[in-house]
Amino acid sequence: MMTDAAMPELLRIPHPNPVSEAERVARIADPGFGKTFTDHMVTIRYTEGQGWHDATLGPRGPLTLDPATAVLHYAQEIFEGLKGYRLGDGSMAMFRPDANARRFNASARRMAMPELPEALFIESCRALVDIDRDWFPSAEGGSLYLRPFMIATEAFLGVRPANEYLFMVIAASTGNYFKSGAPAVSLWVSEHYNRAGPGGTGAAKCGGNYAASLVPIAEAMQAGHDQVIFLDAKEHRWIEELGGMNVFFVFDDGTIQTPPLSDTILHGVTRDCLIALAREEGLTVREEPYAIDQWRDDARSGRLVESFACGTAAVVTPIGKVSAPEFSFVIGSGGPGQMTQKLKSRLIDIQRGVAPDTHGWVFPVG
Ligand SMILES: *Cc1c(COP(=O)(O)O)cnc(C)c1O
Repeated sequence: MMTDAAMPELLRIPHPNPVSEAERVARIADPGFGKTFTDHMVTIRYTEGQGWHDATLGPRGPLTLDPATAVLHYAQEIFEGLKGYRLGDGSMAMFRPDANARRFNASARRMAMPELPEALFIESCRALVDIDRDWFPSAEGGSLYLRPFMIATEAFLGVRPANEYLFMVIAASTGNYFKSGAPAVSLWVSEHYNRAGPGGTGAAKCGGNYAASLVPIAEAMQAGHDQVIFLDAKEHRWIEELGGMNVFFVFDDGTIQTPPLSDTILHGVTRDCLIALAREEGLTVREEPYAIDQWRDDARSGRLVESFACGTAAVVTPIGKVSAPEFSFVIGSGGPGQMTQKLKSRLIDIQRGVAPDTHGWVFPVG
C-alpha cells in the first residue's frame, strides 16, 4: 500500500474536564500496569486516496464503531509499546521511539495496512507525553507507558485490506517494574502450541499473535508456571521467544547467545539494546539458534549459568526454572544472575539519564 507523504499537523484540543488533581494524585500513587489511563489520546484517520488526515490530540474517550468494522472480524490490527520517563532534571523523555516507528511500519506492511510517516508517529507520542506529563507516577521507577496502535475501520465484510484506518496513541501511568530483587520466572515449554510459523505474522506486532498465545499461557499458569517459552513450528526444537519477550542465554565463559531474528521472532528493541550494550562491554554475543535439549544439558552441566527474558515493560526478567512434560531444570541458583542484573542496570541507567546516552536512544519531550 502506498504511503502518503503529506504529514498532517496535530490539532490540540485540551480536555475541558480532566480528572481532578486530587483524584489523579491518588490514582498515580499505585497505578499498576495498563489500567490507569491519562486524560488525552491521539487519533489520526486514514482514507485510501486521501492519506492521513484529521490528526487530533484530544480528550480520551470511547470509540463508536459500526458492527461491520473490519478489525472486529478479520483482526487487521497492529500496536507498539514504549515508555515515557522523567529524567533527573525533571524533563520528560521517550526511549527509542524511532525504533518503534520503524517496527510499526514493518508490522503495517505485513498486515496490508498503510504506513505512517515516522515523524508523525514520534510527534504523536511526544505530544501525548507532553500534555499528560502530570500523570507520570509519583512512585520511584514508574513510567508513562505509551500504546500506539492502528485498526482497520472500514465497515465491510469482504476479505481484502480495508480502505479506512484509525491510528491512535493512548498512555497509562505504570508502576515500578524495577524493584530490586525481581524474582526469577518459571517457564513452561509449549509442546503442542506454536506462537508463529515460517511465512506467518510472528515478526509483526499484531493482536492476533497475542490472541493465539492466550491458551498456552493459561495452561502454563494453571500448571503453576509463570510464562510459556515457544519453540520453532517446524522441528519443535529451536527456542524462539516468550509470548511477549525475547530471550538470552549466558554461558560460563562469559559469552551471551540469543536466537537470530527471523519472521517467527519479534524484533525487540530491548533485545537490540542489550546486544549493543553487551558488545560494548567487550562481551561476545552470538545470534544463533539454541535448542531446548541443549539448554537443558548446558544448565545441568553448568556451562549455561544465566538466562533472561527482555521487553519494554519489565526490561529484563531472570529465568529461574524451565519445565517440559518429560523434564525440568533449574538455571544457576534459580534466582537473578550477575550478568542479567548488570545488563539491566546498564540499560535502565541510560533510560533514566543516569549514564550518558552515547547512542541517541533518549528522545527529549521537553
Ligand atoms: C513487543 C514484543 C517483544 C519485546 O519487544 P520490545 O521492543 O523489547 O518491547 C518481544 N516479543 C513479542 C512477541 C512482542 O510482542
